[in-house]
Amino acid sequence: MAKVIDSKIPAGPVPEKWKEYKAHQRLVNPKNKLKLDVIVVGTGLAGASAAASLGEMGFNVINLCIQDSPRRAHSIAAQGGINAAKCYQNDGDSIYRLFYDTVKGGDYRAREANVYRLAEVSNNIIDQCVAQGVPFAREYGGMLANRSFGGAQVSRTFYAKGQTGQQLLLGAYSSLSCQVNAGKVKLYTRYEMEDVVIVDGRARGIIAKDLCTGKLVRFSANAVVIATGGYGNTYFLSTNAMGCNCTAAVQCYRKGAYFANPSYVQIHPTCIPVHGDKQSKLTLMSESLRNDGRIWVPKNIEDAKALQAGTKQGWEIPEEDRDYYLERRYPAFGNLVPRDVASRAAKERCDKGFGVNNTGLAVFLDFSESINRLGIDVIMQRYGNLFEMYEEITDVFPGDIANEINGVKYYKPMMIYPAIHYTMGGIWVDYELQTSIPGLFAIGECNFSDHGANRLGASALMQGLADGYFVLPYTIQNYLADQAVWPKVSTDLPEFDAAEKAVDAELDRLLNIKGKRSVDSIHKELGHIMWEYVGMGRTAEGLKTGLKKMHELEKEFDSNLFVPGTKEGLNIELDKAIHLRDFFTMGQLVAFDALSRNESCGGHFREEYQTEEGEAKRDDENYFYVGCWEYKGKGNEPELIKEPLEYEAIKVQTRNYKN
Ligand SMILES: Cc1cc2nc3c(=O)[nH]c(=O)nc-3n(C[C@H](O)[C@H](O)[C@H](O)COP(=O)(O)OP(=O)(O)OC[C@H]3O[C@@H](n4cnc5c(N)ncnc54)[C@H](O)[C@@H]3O)c2cc1C
Repeated sequence: MAKVIDSKIPAGPVPEKWKEYKAHQRLVNPKNKLKLDVIVVGTGLAGASAAASLGEMGFNVINLCIQDSPRRAHSIAAQGGINAAKCYQNDGDSIYRLFYDTVKGGDYRAREANVYRLAEVSNNIIDQCVAQGVPFAREYGGMLANRSFGGAQVSRTFYAKGQTGQQLLLGAYSSLSCQVNAGKVKLYTRYEMEDVVIVDGRARGIIAKDLCTGKLVRFSANAVVIATGGYGNTYFLSTNAMGCNCTAAVQCYRKGAYFANPSYVQIHPTCIPVHGDKQSKLTLMSESLRNDGRIWVPKNIEDAKALQAGTKQGWEIPEEDRDYYLERRYPAFGNLVPRDVASRAAKERCDKGFGVNNTGLAVFLDFSESINRLGIDVIMQRYGNLFEMYEEITDVFPGDIANEINGVKYYKPMMIYPAIHYTMGGIWVDYELQTSIPGLFAIGECNFSDHGANRLGASALMQGLADGYFVLPYTIQNYLADQAVWPKVSTDLPEFDAAEKAVDAELDRLLNIKGKRSVDSIHKELGHIMWEYVGMGRTAEGLKTGLKKMHELEKEFDSNLFVPGTKEGLNIELDKAIHLRDFFTMGQLVAFDALSRNESCGGHFREEYQTEEGEAKRDDENYFYVGCWEYKGKGNEPELIKEPLEYEAIKVQTRNYKN
């Protein structure tokens, strides 16, 4: 029988109780010079917004990132937009509706109260960012513009062309810089957190590596916040930035923080297909393109075979021979079904032989109809930089006219296929975003909260900024209020000594293996195992095989790895080796969780559990919980701990995007 934990949501009627529930703001007094220090690890949208807000509130913040500037965090990659329930389109949107769509989109596996709070603060985020000068797209009359994203029948996504993440990060960075200038935030760029230091059961500091000199550095504080992003790169090929890693999160997990729902991995339906085995990165084509792009494959298998052989092109296939399969299967949402549904539908068509490129693993995303209707100028205004990005990679410009059949103009379609994109799982946090280690908090993509088994598009930026600007700065004070009487611990404590020695020993171990294989060659092999056995379609048998193969490959890593250079100075290969060590722990965790969850929900699709129509089949009777895992040592199966989900405001039902 698994242990059961509680998320500390206060008792009372729903949803009023969440509205009434306010964190004590006992310490908020910017005029007071507070002596409380907080370490914030990460400068993506979650980390930068949290560090800036905490600094502004008067805390002393130590803020670290692995890049040479906070502006280069992975968050800048975000293209499509950020959700908020402003209802500027007068289309019936509301906080409740955003809350409802997000819970439903997550296949009823998110914590209801957290999602309500997220929807509540969504509007404040837009106001905050506009005040910072974020150049959101506007209508001709000056109002902020919106577009639609998957899983919603309203238009609530705010955007800045195809560069929303970058513009939001510049806004957060300007606030952060202001606090750096005011002396409230001390920024450490090119520093990587290697371990969290626990003193008397509380997080009291970290060990970080100066990535330029190789030196290990100790930081102590009254609380530690990790905002270090997701673990998508466990799969090697993903849409994530190359530097994304899960080292900080996994180290916290090894030190006792629970890891929640690791099997909930998002596979995004619209990425540029894999084109060869020398590739190290996949590129996303934003979901926003599904506002105007239509997804299709040929109706006739002969046409598909001709496309695969290269003897026919997509624009030679007339309208009546095209299968707009999402519109056919899901008339109510059409091309804007949630990502998990769209990805599985693409896989289903390709598995049946209807793929449209030489590998048979691609479908078309076509703008012909919208260009004919709206004109190329409008489409270019909306998606110009995405079209250019697509052309740079594939040499095809989706705005180029290619053919005319019976008076209908056909433009060159994009080719897309699902790829690993986002991780809903993460470090378990309670309602206050505190992990199971007192004093250790987790925000942004690296925690598990809010998205359940599937994240809706444009919700990650919303969650990261909600956590950083509006939730953590208040909830952390409930913890810090009691810390005001404690002095900050010294970095000379034996706990710091032991943690630093252990990190140093790990660096020596990796350097001294002196085997024959590069980090990337092993990582690539791990990625293949993950994609094949722990990817879009999972089975109990496959997961067991995947675990066995990962175990064997980890042995190879431990005995045959080659890391050139020394631990002094810059050594990127050594840093990558540390990341890979942790991707192994993560990969196994994803597989354990997937194996334990005998149901399909959201991004976790067990082929044994599907409806006759191929949809995910949940088992609410047995799996209506957050699955948290406690580390039990290398090579051992972690222990499952359950947080039961309680739904009071929303009726749990089968997801329906058909009508
Ligand atoms: C191509 C792409 C497009 C996307 N588009 C959208 C979109 O349109 N809308 C949307 O809502 N979401 C989108 N997402 C998802 C969204 O961008 C991310 O989920 C979000 O930006 C994560 O923010 P974060 O602050 O949690 O983490 P990150 O931005 O990943 O930042 C992590 C930070 O932690 C630091 N760090 C990591 N490890 C360590 C360590 N050990 N020590 C010190 N520092 C460390 C890094 O330096 C970095 O500063 C997209 C994602 C991708 C890949």
